[in-house]
Amino acid sequence: MGTIIGIDLGTTNSCAAVVEGGKPTVIPNREGGRTTPSVVGFSPEWERLVGNAARRQAAIHPELTVSSIKRKMGSGETVRLGSRDFHPQEISAMILAHLKQDAEDFLGQPVTQAVITVPAYFNDAQRQATRDAGRIAGLEVCRIINEPTAAALAYGLDNENEQKVLVYDLGGGTFDVSIIQIDHGVIQVLSTCGDNHLGGDDFDARIADHLTAQFRQQTGIDLKRDPSAMRRIYEVAEEAKKQLSSAQVADVRLPFLTTRKGEPVHLETTLTRAELESMTSDLIERTTQPVLSALRDARLDASSLTRVLLVGGSTRMPAVQRKVRALTGLEPSKALNPDECVALGAAAQGGKLAGALVVSDSGQQERFGKDLLLMDVTPMTLSIETVGGVATHLIERNTPIPTRVSQIFTTASLLQRSVEIKVLQGERPRSRDNKLLGTFRLSGVKRLGGRPQIEVTFDIDVNGIVQVSAKDLATGKQQSITIQDSTNLSPEAIEQARRDAAQYAVFEKQRKANLTLLHEAESLQNDVKHALKGDSGKNLDRAIRHRIQESSRVLHNLTRKANPNTGEVAYESIQQAVQQLRTDAAPLLNQTL
Ligand code: AMP
Repeated sequence: MGTIIGIDLGTTNSCAAVVEGGKPTVIPNREGGRTTPSVVGFSPEWERLVGNAARRQAAIHPELTVSSIKRKMGSGETVRLGSRDFHPQEISAMILAHLKQDAEDFLGQPVTQAVITVPAYFNDAQRQATRDAGRIAGLEVCRIINEPTAAALAYGLDNENEQKVLVYDLGGGTFDVSIIQIDHGVIQVLSTCGDNHLGGDDFDARIADHLTAQFRQQTGIDLKRDPSAMRRIYEVAEEAKKQLSSAQVADVRLPFLTTRKGEPVHLETTLTRAELESMTSDLIERTTQPVLSALRDARLDASSLTRVLLVGGSTRMPAVQRKVRALTGLEPSKALNPDECVALGAAAQGGKLAGALVVSDSGQQERFGKDLLLMDVTPMTLSIETVGGVATHLIERNTPIPTRVSQIFTTASLLQRSVEIKVLQGERPRSRDNKLLGTFRLSGVKRLGGRPQIEVTFDIDVNGIVQVSAKDLATGKQQSITIQDSTNLSPEAIEQARRDAAQYAVFEKQRKANLTLLHEAESLQNDVKHALKGDSGKNLDRAIRHRIQESSRVLHNLTRKANPNTGEVAYESIQQAVQQLRTDAAPLLNQTL
């Protein structure tokens, strides 16, 4: 097995990591950053942008940019960018392909396999959609693991004896809390709770509101009508928030924020940590209830917790850490960066699957194989619909997976020759109130003794992916489906998207090569022009000068029409023309440069 990277595919930011020299290590992105904004966009020229480039254009071209796509995974909704509709899987695949490319550049080798993390509460459709996104990006998804489980792996807790760990995850747009139990290499998610619409962005919005209100009071100008000023306000708000995690006071300066009667107006103020904490205390308070619910669902008292892990960039805020201490009575572990530890844990799991050597926290080298058992639980109850629209449970919520459960059913009527199996997910007693995951039909049913007997089996694999089969015990005839609910893509659509993505990767490589060559051609022409005007250019032999000018003209004509985005650039001719000009101008350039 080759290298298996770990990917934290986050709502706001994503992060990739790999085991190197026995240690999980963050893979820096192409700009040197350790996390990459989960933002995708297209420039007006339809150039694909991912990460910081997409985030930067979000305010200027909101109709061409999408963020927080994770919220839509498995929903069946599409998003419109320009004139095209995209499935969330395709957008996530673009983020994954971007991370894959960065990993390949970092490792200097192709990367084809990954472990990807998802929130513990992700249902089957959301997990499938994540797996499909990986496939579209050209990645075999070896495992999908829960984010809190990954955090525990990053901290090496899988090597420890009985532990009950609370993972408090406050990111940019979501809050999740999970209680996990670790015992001799078995990791089990006991419960999970959260708030899908609470995160660092809400803190930024509070600061932005405060700054705009203060600005209006001082200048009478309402910035809310000026999108470009508001974008700068949000940027400076986030920056100030981050500073206040380590400092007591942050300077907030936005020169030339707007104009009044043709005169520039600047924003200049300070924000203290105390002010930030007083304007956001209710946001932090909103994490209390989910923590208490998670403890209750796990049937635990805070006093039985042994560790608390902080995940998500927003847990860097001192007020958040105080809240966690108050709720659990424990000092949270902070040895790892909270926005990186999920990816590090996924990488550790990838390393283990690949049989890599991993240095444990105790410094010992261990070869991990199948000895590590990750045990997760089903987030929701799985049922089938039976007579009268009743949801009959086969697998209860929070059952450890992998699991397999069979139950025998009969038909409502003795003469019935076929049955429709409706697979449901949810806790409600009536089938119509639950989510329909899929349906399939078993026909040609025969009687066995008095009545037909149909054995329905639910199988959930280690990744939480559900397969349901129904067998007519009289004939042995069987039908099954891997839950591929209507909100997800068909295998053909995934294959098509994968081919498109692969084609795009080839196009993108060519585009980059085109751009580099055009850039080289341009700077060479500038150098030559400059040198010809200089002393050595003026004293140049006329024939040589003429030759240089002619080669320069040929190159100029070729590059003038070249469009790197359409791939129409006459790459080879330009390359030859560059070479020709370089040779002809060598005596001149060598003298002057
Ligand atoms: P994540 O999704 O885990 O990458 O978290 C992103 C969120 O963490 C964003 O809202 C960031 O503004 C926030 N964040 C990152 N660093 C800090 C910091 N030092 N203090 C406060 N919030 C931070």
